[in-house]
Amino acid sequence: MSKKLNLKETGELLLAAKSLIFCCHVSPDCDTLGSALGLMRFLEQQGKQVTLLVDDVINKSFSFLPGIAKAQMPEADKEYTADLFVVIDASSWDRIGICNQVVKAKQLLNIDHHISNTEFAEYLYLDAQAAAVGEIMVDLFETCGWEMDKAMADNFYTAISTDCGSFRYSNTTPKTMRQAAKLLELGVNPNEINENLGLNSVATMQLLAKVLPTITFALEGRVAYIKLTNDLYNKETSTETFVNIVRYIEGVDVGIFFKEVEPGKTRVSMRTCKTDAAAIAVQFAGGGHVRAAGCTVMAPIDEAVDQVLAAIAKEMDK
Ligand code: AMP
Ligand code: MN
Ligand code: MN
Repeated sequence: MSKKLNLKETGELLLAAKSLIFCCHVSPDCDTLGSALGLMRFLEQQGKQVTLLVDDVINKSFSFLPGIAKAQMPEADKEYTADLFVVIDASSWDRIGICNQVVKAKQLLNIDHHISNTEFAEYLYLDAQAAAVGEIMVDLFETCGWEMDKAMADNFYTAISTDCGSFRYSNTTPKTMRQAAKLLELGVNPNEINENLGLNSVATMQLLAKVLPTITFALEGRVAYIKLTNDLYNKETSTETFVNIVRYIEGVDVGIFFKEVEPGKTRVSMRTCKTDAAAIAVQFAGGGHVRAAGCTVMAPIDEAVDQVLAAIAKEMDK
């Protein structure tokens, strides 16, 4: 169990540390990266020594995020020490790659918005109502009276807009939009961010052309899925947006993207209209939100499909 902090206590814990290590979750998205980068920037301005570790490839289209060059890949034979270890947007200890082994810090703080949070950290700030950790960041700055500059605002806006599908997903609330409006008042240009973020690489589009013909409908058309087999997998090629294609189809409740990242190891991304995605993902030691969740199934892709479809069928019958 974690000690639950409020925003003020979270701010105090952050300011009490002289050195901090920030860490993002694997398969990093713009919520984990933008939230970490914006908060780090503020803490650096307060004279703190801050390191950012990300144990995964960072999508090239995220290179516009202010400060992204600070992200370091942790090395397995190194030890990273600090007063405070801050884990951002990760709901469990196994979501941060080798950072859970190489970081030695006096205290551990987790800032998260996943309903499936496992309370792995000593200190936790959790807001499962927040559409993104970026939204929590805006709250934190406001509660603590911290000054936010344009670079921080760009990071937090990108964090928020990514996790709420540019204000279209069901997690978008009036507060989400109010927070975003405050960031626009600091000079954020949503169109400019979209031009960066919405840009697909040629390799991604070529891969999509191969993945799309695998589309299959199951459980009387309530499930649609696409598959990326291991022979086509290249970790440098972003597939972030693929799952959305199967989510928005007439009659489909659950859209799934199966990606065989190693022979016998299949990464699963789920998006839903009605069924609880997180409830399915946790059955495979994954997690996420009610409408968006993920997990890794230790099985070849077709076996993983069978296992996940069986779990969905049960969940739908409830
Ligand atoms: P994705 O399908 O990878 O975009 O993930 C959808 C949501 O589920 C995001 O909020 C992820 O952070 C979360 N998620 C994905 N995989 C896992 C996992 N293995 N454990 C916990 N949360 C996950
Ligand atoms: Mn995330
Ligand atoms: Mn998030």
